Amino acid sequence: MRLNRRETQKQTKDYATGKPGKRKHRSAKIRHELTVHTQPEPVFFAGWCRVRPIQRPVKALISIHDVMPETLDQVDELLHLCEQHQATPVTLLIVPGKAWQPADFDQLRAMLERGALLAGHGWQHKIDPKQLRGTARLHSLLLSRNVAEHLALPPAKIRSLILRCYNWFADHALPNPKLYVPPAWAMGRLSHNDLDRLPFRYYETFFGIYDNLSRKFTYSPLTGYEADTNLRAITLTTWNHLNRTIARYHGPLRVGIHPFDLTYKLHTELTQTLGMGFQIQAQL
Ligand SMILES: [Zn+2]
Repeated sequence: MRLNRRETQKQTKDYATGKPGKRKHRSAKIRHELTVHTQPEPVFFAGWCRVRPIQRPVKALISIHDVMPETLDQVDELLHLCEQHQATPVTLLIVPGKAWQPADFDQLRAMLERGALLAGHGWQHKIDPKQLRGTARLHSLLLSRNVAEHLALPPAKIRSLILRCYNWFADHALPNPKLYVPPAWAMGRLSHNDLDRLPFRYYETFFGIYDNLSRKFTYSPLTGYEADTNLRAITLTTWNHLNRTIARYHGPLRVGIHPFDLTYKLHTELTQTLGMGFQIQAQL
């Protein structure tokens, strides 16, 4: 059901089941390429940042970001990896404003049949950095690499973007998602009051998740593996170690996976993290 802004206030919906996919996934070659990792591990990974097995059940939320037609094969491989480690269910963060074709929807629905969940993830997942000023420009340069589209928009346009994202799922006969994650976790200039009037139930940002039904923000540690340079690898592996440690006392741990992580420098850390024996949750 498509919703306008007024109808969506406080709206929450259960997931429905998508139609079965008709097309076999098209990624046998890529699966092989991703399984045979050729990137060397930086030396510092052997030290204090080693991934250690957990001693007691720690809750975790697993998500794969940037799901769009051009990344579906990589996403499919990552979903297989999560399944191999029984790190499921996995939430797929969908970028609706791309050129989705019927075959892409079939591939996506096949993943839903395997238990994947859906979430909204911006619209285009891209901005022109010239649109940004001040701290937003710094954020883009240092962290988000020109994907944090909320940072380039005023509040009213961010609200429209989120509503458009939510309605895209119903327009394509997909289950209504409960979760919205802005690109690069950067919500921009929206308050919790603004989020209370939007149709998703959960809103994820860098430090945690806001539930607009209970009106509660829950801090949740976060790990990431998108390390295509040594500097990012050093930064992320230190950050991940800290956040995995925090999660032993204050979960759930969010494990944020990006489509090309298995070809980057932290592929081993990602695989080890998935194998740590977390108690995987579908949502908060
Ligand atoms: Zn993203």
